[in-house]
Formats: sequence, structure tokens, C-alpha cells
Amino acid sequence: MVHGYKGVKFQNWARTYGCCPEMYYQPTSVEEIREVLALARQQNKRVKVVGGGHSPSDIACTDGFMIHMGKMNRVLQVDTEKKQVTVEAGILLADLHPELGKHGLALSNLGAVSDVTAGGVIGSGTHNTGIKHGILATQVLNNLDSHLKKSEYFRFLWFPHSENVSVIYQDHTNKPPSSCANWFWDYAIGFYLLEFLLWVSTFLPGLVGWINRCFFWLLFTRKKESSNVSHKIFTYECRFKQHVQDWAIPREKTKEALLELKAMLEAHPKMVAHYPVEVRFTRGDDILLSPCFQRDSCYMNIIMYRPYGKDVPRLDYWLTYETIMKKVGGRPHWAKAHNCTRKDFEKMYPAFPKFCAIREKLDPTGMFLNAYLEKVFY
Ligand SMILES: Cc1cc2nc3c(=O)[nH]c(=O)nc-3n(C[C@H](O)[C@H](O)[C@H](O)COP(=O)(O)OP(=O)(O)OC[C@H]3O[C@@H](n4cnc5c(N)ncnc54)[C@H](O)[C@@H]3O)c2cc1C
Repeated sequence: MVHGYKGVKFQNWARTYGCCPEMYYQPTSVEEIREVLALARQQNKRVKVVGGGHSPSDIACTDGFMIHMGKMNRVLQVDTEKKQVTVEAGILLADLHPELGKHGLALSNLGAVSDVTAGGVIGSGTHNTGIKHGILATQVLNNLDSHLKKSEYFRFLWFPHSENVSVIYQDHTNKPPSSCANWFWDYAIGFYLLEFLLWVSTFLPGLVGWINRCFFWLLFTRKKESSNVSHKIFTYECRFKQHVQDWAIPREKTKEALLELKAMLEAHPKMVAHYPVEVRFTRGDDILLSPCFQRDSCYMNIIMYRPYGKDVPRLDYWLTYETIMKKVGGRPHWAKAHNCTRKDFEKMYPAFPKFCAIREKLDPTGMFLNAYLEKVFY
């Protein structure tokens, strides 16, 4: 149980602002943070996180619960190849610099002081200078733009109910075809096991998070492959029957939408989501009813398998996803499941009336309509 302190007085570094929080906590884990938040919710208290306390305003002040992040200051992972580092939010940049230095790495830009925390500089939009450099938050490790620039066919997969993401780069190559043998998948053992486990999880939904995490590790033992034909790279043998939704959202909304979906799953542990959430990117175009009409887009595909043909309840997950997609200006894939009608499409597509006029001229008697298209056009 996390211990809280009464009577602590907080002052910012410049001593220009201060406060007396009712309770002051220094959690050491995410679990302990959850405990504080649960208590705050129960007692109807406000919560404020504080990092290095260097903000020259009262932004970190509260008379409710204060969470000081100083004990969550570890470097969790360093990937020198990708130049990516995972840290806890309470780490002081002053402590991070020497850790990066050990691996020949450094922050590409930072503010004028280092007695500030990773969480603080990201949360407050800290910046320095250089027209090619964004604010510090743009260095955050899952920086989408740099991935998109790095690989011609970049995509990533998120494994719901976990923190696991698989990043997939695919590029043209002159190298001869090669592949990595992976007995687990090549002899279909993985598929049989997965289908069986998914079926079991229809009785024990709590297993799904565990399955997603396990299969993240099993799937990504496969590292590098090259091929001289595109269909061998882009297609795969899809052995499972499944329900899917796949909406195109403005590319810049990717992170917001994914984080909201993740937060919703965390807030509703009974809502089950099979892996993966596949995130792909496409260039904008000028095709009147293209989901990518006039904007670069991110397609966020969600999936629910049907192990041995059995439907797994998905309504809550489906509605949650659709609500988020609509909120960020999404447009559903025409071929995949959605509940949208003409009213929705009129809002989504600026050229919808133009398309309808063309359609009505070319098919005045509605000969080419079916039930699906009636929902779209009437
Ligand atoms: C001498 C000095 C020089 C500075 N130079 C620059 C500069 O060059 N460029 C610039 O842009 N700014 C500069 N700043 C401002 C400073 O970078 C920001 O105030 C920064 O937020 C301080 O980080 P901190 O860890 O002290 O955050 P705090 O002041 O403790 O908190 C700032 C905000 O971040 C939130 N926060 C902190 N940690 C977390 C977390 N883990 N999770 C969620 N939210 C969190 C807090 O709730 C608060 O809203 C300077 C400040 C000083 C005192």
C-alpha cells in the first residue's frame, strides 16, 4: 500500500509559487500510482503530478493529492540500433544524460536546464531552438514521422491489453530472396495453438491479454526476410475467420486515437480485444469517396477472430472503436464492417453531394443499388 504524507509544502524551483497539498505521494511503481488515483477517485480529490518542480508558474500546484515522480526514475531499455530509450517519467534529464552517454547517445535537443524530468518537459511543451527541431515532446520514442520517413512501407501492430508494439519496416532491396525458418509458424503449430487458446478464452475472457502478450513474443522471433516479388512480402496466409473494422483517420490523429483506444480498454478490463490492432499509412488522393480523400491517412484495423467459427462478443469494443474513429474525423473502409449511413457520410466526405449527383445521373432507376448501398445513399 502506497504511503502518503500530510503537511508537505511544495515550492517551485524559483520559489515564486507554492502550495500545501492535502496528501503527498512518492510512488515507486505504476501499481502504486493506480492506488493513489483510486483513492482520489473514491474521496473525490484532485490530483497533480510534479516532476522537477522547475516550472516558473503554478502549473504543478494543487491543494489536493500531489504525486511526486522522483522515485520512478529508471532507465528501462536502451536500443542503440534504433536510438530509442525507454525511461520512467520521473527521471531527471541530468541523470539521463550520463546513461545515454554510456551508449554513445544523447538528446538531440533540450531546454536550458537539466534538473527537470522527462515527464515534465514532455508534458509542458519544453523547447529550445533550431528550425529543424521540434519541441522536446517530438523526440518521444514512438515518433511517427521518423518511422514513416525511415521505411517505404512502414506499419505497426499493437497488441491490445499490453504495452507491446511490433514495428515493421518493408523496403525495396536488391538482395537475393531469403527467409528465416520458424518451425512454430511454418508447421502451423502456432495457428492451431492460437485458435485453441482463443476458443478457450471465449469461456475465460481474462486469458486474452495473456494470449496477446505470448503471441507478441512468438510472432516476432521472425526477424528479417527479403523477396524479389511484392506478393510474398505484402500478403500472408490468413487462416482465421474474423470480424474486422478498418477506418482511415487523418494521419496526425494516429497517436491520439490509439492512446484513447488503449485507455478505454484499460478502463474497461472486461472489454476483450484480440491482437493485433494493425496501423498502416497511405497517401491522400483526389478520389471523391476515397477514405483518404485530400488527406494523408492512417488506417487502424481492429480484429476479433472466430475460433472454430464461434463469434466472440465484440459489441462494446466495436462501439468504442467507432466512437473514437468518428471523433477524430475517421472514414470507414468501404469493404469492412461499419454502421454508418448517409448522414454520417455527408459529414465525412466534402464531395459526397457531387458523387451522389453523378451516381443518380448514371443510375437514375437505382438498378445498381443493394441493401448496403441504400444505407449509404438514402
Ligand atoms: C532555469 C530554467 C530554465 C528553463 N529553460 C527552459 C527552456 O530552455 N525551454 C523551455 O521550453 N522551458 C524551459 N524551462 C521550463 C521547464 O523546462 C519546464 O517548466 C519543465 O516542465 C520543467 O520540468 P519539471 O520536471 O520540473 O516539471 P514540473 O514543473 O514539475 O511540472 C510541469 C508540468 O508537467 C507535469 N508533469 C510532470 N511530470 C509529469 C508526469 N510524469 N506525468 C504527467 N505530467 C507530468 C506537471 O503536472 C506540470 O503540469 C526552464 C525552467 C527553468 C527554471
